[in-house]
Amino acid sequence: MRKILLSLFLLCLMHELIAQPNYDQYPVYNGDLGLTYSKTNSSFRIWSPPAEAGQLLLYKEGENGKPFKTIDLKKGINGTWYTTLSGDWEKTFYVFRVKINNKWNNEIPDPYAKAVGINGKRAMVIDLKDTDPQGWTNDKSPAFSKQNNPTDAIIYELHVRDASIDNNSGIKHKGKFLGLAELGTLSKEGQSTGLSHLKELGVTHIHLLPFFDYASIDESKSDNQYNWGYDPLNYNVPEGSYSTNPYDGITRIKELKQLIQTFHKNGLRVIFDAVYNHTALTEQSNFNQLVPGYYYRHKKDARPDPFGGSFSNATACGNETASEMPMMRKFMLESVLYWAKEYHIDGFRFDLMGVHDIKTMNIISKALHKVKPDIVLYGEGWTAGESPLPDSMRAIKKNAWKLDRIAVFSDDIRDGIKGSVFDVKDKGFASGKLGMEESVKFGIAAACDHPQIDYSKVNYSKQPYAAAPWNVITYCECHDNNTLWDKLALSCPNASEEERKKMHQLALTIILTSQGIPFLHAGSEFLRSKNGVENSYNSGDSINALKWSLKKENLEITNYVKRLIKIRKEHPAFRMTDAKQVAQNILFDNHAPDGTIAYTINGAALQDRWKKIFIAFNGSSVEKEISLPDGNWKTAIDTGAEIKPGLGKVKLKKYSAVVLYKD
Ligand code: CA
Repeated sequence: MRKILLSLFLLCLMHELIAQPNYDQYPVYNGDLGLTYSKTNSSFRIWSPPAEAGQLLLYKEGENGKPFKTIDLKKGINGTWYTTLSGDWEKTFYVFRVKINNKWNNEIPDPYAKAVGINGKRAMVIDLKDTDPQGWTNDKSPAFSKQNNPTDAIIYELHVRDASIDNNSGIKHKGKFLGLAELGTLSKEGQSTGLSHLKELGVTHIHLLPFFDYASIDESKSDNQYNWGYDPLNYNVPEGSYSTNPYDGITRIKELKQLIQTFHKNGLRVIFDAVYNHTALTEQSNFNQLVPGYYYRHKKDARPDPFGGSFSNATACGNETASEMPMMRKFMLESVLYWAKEYHIDGFRFDLMGVHDIKTMNIISKALHKVKPDIVLYGEGWTAGESPLPDSMRAIKKNAWKLDRIAVFSDDIRDGIKGSVFDVKDKGFASGKLGMEESVKFGIAAACDHPQIDYSKVNYSKQPYAAAPWNVITYCECHDNNTLWDKLALSCPNASEEERKKMHQLALTIILTSQGIPFLHAGSEFLRSKNGVENSYNSGDSINALKWSLKKENLEITNYVKRLIKIRKEHPAFRMTDAKQVAQNILFDNHAPDGTIAYTINGAALQDRWKKIFIAFNGSSVEKEISLPDGNWKTAIDTGAEIKPGLGKVKLKKYSAVVLYKD
């Protein structure tokens, strides 16, 4: 028995020695990687400690054909391989390959590539100066308030293609970066569309769904393909299908910069949707072909096998990256800094941020704030599966307070308002479900500690997790799951359209009057529907496109949202900056009837010209009577109230909201 155990032990040991590279012993390289270009020479350097040899292959085209030159790389310091070519190599396509265990791995574009050809197969040597549109060096991010506090932002989440692809968009460059840069476009009903619509709405930040180079669209086939883009291929390059020429590495960069420049000129900031948590490919990814296994986490009890089989999968996309590994951390940091500096990006949304470790996120935040002090950072404080990295180390929602100037999405208020996203039939506060009051109050206070919230009754979080209101994204819908309008239809089949419109208005009123950073999903302001499709990531334009005729049809809703946005921007009382202000200046009515929420904000203490603000919501299906504090109240918002100041009461119709104030 002992003998068997001993041989088993030796077998395990041997297996470990053979199959498990000790990633911790790989040297770290702190210098520049990828291409360093000048007119007189181009230097190339990759990091691949396990490689026995490395090559740079040069091509005339971005795909097909044979390399016209193959250069053996020299072994450099700290696991790097490099070469320098004299002369001007602009517009040459290039790839690398490394030999590991006596086998040449696949050719891959430089993971640090700044330009690529068609479908991101080969990197391209470019002079970044050639990618600047006219006036780019003078491009400036517009102010979004007096202070530019993160809670002054009003974020609008939009997909590049969705914005313009509808026949009725009046936009020429449909589905392209340039389409979103067109001004003065109109629908056939005469309503402004695209960029002009965003400007008119009054939002401050446009969060564009992924516009780095992603894998799922064949860029050589110009149309009838659709994807959200959460499948990263080349992190530091724009997606080709949004450009007018995906073959030329310069065009996509230039056109994206044109879009950003135009947004900035028109008072809008741009947020980058960052998806560093996984790569579209696993064994075949750029990372894994250069340094097998290193950039990813591996299942705890399986022996890490760099050639596949043991990748852990907290993203439900086949792999999860390992931000805690020094070279992955360095990659993420350099990538966001590159986007912020080269493209003048104003904010980052981190997909499945709960996969990343807190330390990396805080390093990133500190560096980005140095480049742009008023940058807005937020992410999904959750994962899509189990991760081997302990919860205490990861940037998940319950650790939000440990994050340095990074917000997390509040699913507490999201589902408190409309019901669980995992159960289409489930209703929320705004659609008549009783018992959701504390979940919504939790969101009104932006997950900050508040003495009047009964945390035992909050749907998900049983304690506050925010250090301050800037720590929380206040929202009730995004690209994931059903649109709010569809969710209301699916969960309230017996409600009339008029009733659902009231619910919709109520939901958006809660979002835009609550503390935290408000976040709207594109088209919500005109009751966007995806025909009940729950996950529309590849559903095509017929489901996903913003249908601009809806704007005229639902103009009163659009105008109402515009009004809410205007009020929020004018009143600091809705944009508190620290947790103490929230606890001290929001006073909930503890006796508000079931299905209602009523509270006052002490505007005077917050330098608001509205000295006192009274806000009440009736999410129930019957009229409710709510106490109104004494005084001479004026009306700011009223979707169904009967105000009786003398009697100290306000009657609120079902699914309605009221905002009153004293000067
Ligand atoms: Ca692509």
